[in-house]
Amino acid sequence: MIISTVGSHSALQILYGAKKESFSTKVYCLKGKEQLYKRYPVADQIITVDSYSDLLEKKYENEEIFVPHGSIIATLGKRALDIPIPMIGNREGMYWEMIREKNLELLNKANIRTPYTYKPEEIDKLCIVKFPGAKGGDGYFLCSSYQEFEEKIGELIKEKKVSEEEASNAQIQEYIVGVTMYPHYFYSPIYDRVELLGIDRRYETNVDALGRLSQSHSKISPTYTVVGNQPLIARESFLHKLLDYGDLLREVSVDSFHPGLIGPYCIEMALTDKEIVAFEFTSRIVAGTSLYISGSLYSKILFDEEMSMGRRIAREIKLAKEQNRLDDIIS
Ligand code: ATP
Repeated sequence: MIISTVGSHSALQILYGAKKESFSTKVYCLKGKEQLYKRYPVADQIITVDSYSDLLEKKYENEEIFVPHGSIIATLGKRALDIPIPMIGNREGMYWEMIREKNLELLNKANIRTPYTYKPEEIDKLCIVKFPGAKGGDGYFLCSSYQEFEEKIGELIKEKKVSEEEASNAQIQEYIVGVTMYPHYFYSPIYDRVELLGIDRRYETNVDALGRLSQSHSKISPTYTVVGNQPLIARESFLHKLLDYGDLLREVSVDSFHPGLIGPYCIEMALTDKEIVAFEFTSRIVAGTSLYISGSLYSKILFDEEMSMGRRIAREIKLAKEQNRLDDIIS
């Protein structure tokens, strides 16, 4: 059996985890990106593609399971759902992830507080403006009034950084001043349980660099482009809440897109001194899981072995295959 993915985001970790569980591995690489996967021995096959759209045409090998990640969603958007290779997880969940309104709807159904959203004319406090699709925060901007919104979005359109269509679908959210935290969950149909396997926080440019400047330079506008991830463990008293949130989201997902979230997912949140506010969920592996290739505090205690998210995915596939339950984990 082969585990495959696309060569970027968290591919090294996904393929390494698959190898640890004795699977053959395959990586689909854009032309020019093969070098990384030649230098790190994780892929048994390296397949070069001109663009990720080629995956839509690919004939897949029997018993190949594809692991989707953020790059494929960012590049193909809804077309990612049509990749003709069986995928770990629920494709319908990926659809809910991509549509911002649906994304917040699911979090709200789980009674998880989300940022208030505004129409442009309603902006009366600090807001963050987001464009459709997983762009890793690229192009987001802050504004505090309708006039500022109009000016900034007009500039982005003029510079062709966003299209008219993206601009009209921009979501304006209340800006949450809090510490960001990204807990990594895994729902196992085999064990019928939600596992919290690790937590990270993203390192984003330039917002995470602004603290190094004095107040006198504070006019620089923050940007939110992800450049890396940092490990994090939560205060133990927060863990109850994080586990509850993971369970609640999984529970409501079953009604919203049967059979619900399967395999890896994440809730992207910020903790203020008063509350936890979630701004997004993802229904697939997040890049921050790569920090824990040898396991995290939580995965170590659960499994007592080096259990990364990539390996956890492969382990679930292995168990499902042994029990003839592959249909329960793929879509
Ligand atoms: P991805 O799908 O890769 O997570 P994205 O483009 O959907 O990326 P978000 O996760 O929504 O982006 O946001 C990117 C970053 O912007 C967050 O990590 C966080 O730092 C910041 N951010 C997003 N929403 C808010 C908010 N409401 N308040 C404060 N900061 C926010």
